[in-house]
Amino acid sequence: MRPLGEAQRDVLGAVPDLPLADVSLAEALGLVLATPVVAPSDVPPFANSAMDGYAVVAQDTQTPPVTLQVLEDVPAGSVAQTSVRPGFAIKIMTGAPVPSGADAIVRVEDTEPGNDSVVVNATVAVGTSVRPAGGDVVTGETVFEPGVRLTPPHVAVLASLGLPSIPVRRRPTVALMSTGDEVRRPDTMSLEPGQIRDSNRPLLAGLLAELGADVIDLGIIEDDEAVLRDTVEKAASVADVIFTSGGVSMGEYDLVKIVLRDLGTIDFWQVAMQPAKPFAFGHIEGTPLFGLPGNPVSVMVAFEQFARPALLHMMGAGQIFRPRVAGTMDEPIATDPAKTVFARVAIESTWEGFIVKRSGGQNSNILSALARADGFAVVPVGVGELQVGDPVELEMFRWPEGRTITQALGAEVFSSVTQNG
Ligand code: AMP
Ligand code: MG
Repeated sequence: MRPLGEAQRDVLGAVPDLPLADVSLAEALGLVLATPVVAPSDVPPFANSAMDGYAVVAQDTQTPPVTLQVLEDVPAGSVAQTSVRPGFAIKIMTGAPVPSGADAIVRVEDTEPGNDSVVVNATVAVGTSVRPAGGDVVTGETVFEPGVRLTPPHVAVLASLGLPSIPVRRRPTVALMSTGDEVRRPDTMSLEPGQIRDSNRPLLAGLLAELGADVIDLGIIEDDEAVLRDTVEKAASVADVIFTSGGVSMGEYDLVKIVLRDLGTIDFWQVAMQPAKPFAFGHIEGTPLFGLPGNPVSVMVAFEQFARPALLHMMGAGQIFRPRVAGTMDEPIATDPAKTVFARVAIESTWEGFIVKRSGGQNSNILSALARADGFAVVPVGVGELQVGDPVELEMFRWPEGRTITQALGAEVFSSVTQNG
């Protein structure tokens, strides 16, 4: 058996970078910056008011109340026609440019309006409620470094900069197929004896969608050498990465193994991990292929440990592994000490930290326990058993359930919500 880390290193070292691309802002979410983003201009572009109120000379407000003459009104989107000088004020709305001569804003709550005048009841310091030009981002500043995976706030910052296009690596195209004569489409209502519905493609399609990959769904491939060969060759010609599931273990009918061995440079690994010990990886006509196991839980574990980091690496991301946090076992668990074990666990978030229980059965076909899990408890080689109270490393693929209405806001709100349906 190969150590997991060694197998991961081999995979990451054998996948190509995706090509560079300039995409529109609308396409950029989830992709990874390929070059630094340097601000072409200040954000905000001009000094503006943080409040609805009056632009004043701060010195005028030293001994309130004080009456100032109001020169004009400036709504957001307009520019003052006059300048503020001692004894005068300009009425200003949030976001409007601070008029020349003014050095502070008095908020409307601290004033009383008069006829063409205003009484100021508060003292303001120079700069009060003024948002300076470049207060967020300064011209010439490196806003984001390459390798950053763009989240909605990143995209919003890029929008504020007015860039014509965003330099990224192209979205990966991934071809997906399930194999096995027993495997039937998920919409098959009555299964014959021996058949099961395909849960691997929906699982992988979802995991790939979260990464922003474009999926080419090649369906279920029957255990037939010619069909399998044609499909894999076609996949290699249209996709950046190929995923198969099933047929890579020790079984006699593992045709995937035979076909892949003939077609390309594919290695069949026994990785010292559980689940997902059998795993195939290599290239078909230069296109990386991940031969994932058949059991759905193994599919996700292999995806998470090999394919997701590899795809993020291809996309240019600096951070390619899921976050790991410390948790505490709330029940004992016994695992195979010869393997890195990824136990599916439900995690409760408390002030004392993350409290960890198995989310259900731990066999690699128990998909429901995967759906109820927040992450994997990672039990390293050589450990085997964990007792109640033992610390454990958690690899999070989602965060524990959020708070209900009742927990967040109290029972009253909850009852009114239920009454209103
Ligand atoms: P295999 O690696 O092909 O021997 O498959 C291992 C196990 O996973 C068997 O019980 C298969 O029936 C099951 N399996 C294979 N492909 C799928 C799939 N697409 N969806 C659900 N289970 C599968
Ligand atoms: Mg099979």
